[in-house]
Amino acid sequence: MNLTNWTPPNCPQCKANSMRLICFSHVPSGAAFKKNGWYCDGCKAGPFQLGNVTEVDAAIFAKQLNAPRKQHEAI
Ligand SMILES: [Zn+2]
Repeated sequence: MNLTNWTPPNCPQCKANSMRLICFSHVPSGAAFKKNGWYCDGCKAGPFQLGNVTEVDAAIFAKQLNAPRKQHEAI
């Protein structure tokens, strides 16, 4: 996943360039996880899924970043 140089599109509802990604939970089975997504600062609409990265993908990616490094990588 590469989010470099990616800017969120405008709000689908009011067209303002105020979309903000909010993560309530990293646990895909939790109730709060369903609220994860993009919200508009202007009209408070949301959550939306913008682009082709789902919240499940984002949670898996975040988990990979938190994984401990393999021992043999340290020389
Ligand atoms: Zn909006």
